[in-house]
Amino acid sequence: MKSNCKYIFVTGGVTSSLGKGIFAASLARLLQGHGFRVTIQKFDPYINVDPGTLNPYEHGECYVTEDGAETDLDLGHYERFLGVDTSQSNNVTTGAVYQTVINKERAGDYLGKTVQVIPHITDELQRRMMLLGESGEYDIVITEIGGTVGDIESFPFVEAVRQLKWKLGSTRCITVHLTLIPYLASAKELKTKPTQHSVKMLLESGLQADILVCRTEYPLNRDIRRKLALFCNVNINAVIEAIDVDTIYDVPLSLLKEGLDDIVLSKLKLPKHGEPDLTSWKEFLSRLKNPTNSVRIALVGKYVELQDAYKSILESFIHAGAANECKVEVVSIQSDHISAENVREKLKHMDGVLVAPGFGDRGIEGKIAAIKFVRENNIPFFGICLGMQCCVIEFGRHVLKLKDAHSTEMNPKTKHPVIDKMEEQKNITEMGGTMRLGSYDCRLYKKTRSYDIYKSQAITERHRHRFEFNNEYLKDYEAHGMMAAGVNPQQNLVEIVELKEHPWFIGVQFHLELKSKVEKPHPLFVDFVRAAIQQKERKLK
Ligand code: GLN
Repeated sequence: MKSNCKYIFVTGGVTSSLGKGIFAASLARLLQGHGFRVTIQKFDPYINVDPGTLNPYEHGECYVTEDGAETDLDLGHYERFLGVDTSQSNNVTTGAVYQTVINKERAGDYLGKTVQVIPHITDELQRRMMLLGESGEYDIVITEIGGTVGDIESFPFVEAVRQLKWKLGSTRCITVHLTLIPYLASAKELKTKPTQHSVKMLLESGLQADILVCRTEYPLNRDIRRKLALFCNVNINAVIEAIDVDTIYDVPLSLLKEGLDDIVLSKLKLPKHGEPDLTSWKEFLSRLKNPTNSVRIALVGKYVELQDAYKSILESFIHAGAANECKVEVVSIQSDHISAENVREKLKHMDGVLVAPGFGDRGIEGKIAAIKFVRENNIPFFGICLGMQCCVIEFGRHVLKLKDAHSTEMNPKTKHPVIDKMEEQKNITEMGGTMRLGSYDCRLYKKTRSYDIYKSQAITERHRHRFEFNNEYLKDYEAHGMMAAGVNPQQNLVEIVELKEHPWFIGVQFHLELKSKVEKPHPLFVDFVRAAIQQKERKLK
């Protein structure tokens, strides 16, 4: 199919962590508001084939798509901002590109030619850059190039963009360069020199920035804009200020004020009919900024020092908080700092406790102590993936009196493997891409809290795990009040457990946090926050 899709490439200059992902998502949301079908993809220059094997300390959360790809956390921002799903094709790494090229070389596809970065790697990059665009599903594809211009690793990416721009022409392909305008306190001045250098560096690789987006703590006055325009060879109305804002969800509106959508549409020769439709976005923002209530929720996990490790959970709380017009204060607590002795002190002021997903043994006993406390004290509890598995272990040990109940992930020799690997997973030894990944069906039983919340019996949710509730114990659990509220119908795997006699106690095997969107908060999170509000009211009585 011949497609007329337009391409916007987003590069970064001066420093990393400028928020290219948020910028790309915000621009996409504006263009979506104008009625265009937009998707965003991320090209990462590292050699890992995907981020699935990266430690969350290194790279933050691993975001899983519907089709089971383990991807960069920026894809989470794309989905949350746009409300549309991404897929395997939306995240490409140098490792994946080399793997394809090397496999082709081994298969003899290059017919004896020397295989080189240019043209073979750059051709494969271009093929992948255009893959979604050529599907016919999108009018505009935004591609975020990871890393900073000038990095050795990103050179082939920049070269691929240069070639693509040359082939497609300037009305089908533009480059937006995100850069930093630092403020020197001693001189009381904003400085443009680092930006001039990074635009020059881009130009040395043959790529002219069409639009400059300038991260800054202070407004850019006309003189600075003129200077940037002159030295960086862009129109003055293509110098866009991206000033620091209170929440990432303000970014689309702040870019709208700067006229970013106008300049992008005019450069791409796309029609503009009035202002973008951001009605429900603005409604969300107004609820977010005018809370009538507040709750404090503990996030108990292994990686709490690094905020990015639980990015989607934190964002889900923001969405669910806004839906309840409630400010959710998330208190991160490292699980290996919790013990039976201090758990009361740490959790007694909480209106709800969420036990996070994770891998490995560290902090497990702290999570179990936290769950025992909230179960016995009727504090709302939400367990996600490993958090759900921990609530099963806790219940097994303290209610079913199965003394050493455990997951075989932590104790392969336990007498009571209440959480165990599925049979077909048992022979797998590789770590990369070998989990139960992506979207699976779940069927909810009527007369459960989960059914009341989802208001449907057939749901799908995303997964990333190896271990499962061991069905041999299910009868015993149900006899004591922990019910399977949802199961995967194809494999009869327990997906949700609930406690009958508790104000709110739900453990889910899946990662529901990956599906919460700004304009469509996840119902389980919304209801958990509502339960936390009720808990706070109970305490005040
Ligand atoms: N480690 C557990 C498993 O593999 C839980 C995984 C998770 O929390 N994502 O089943």
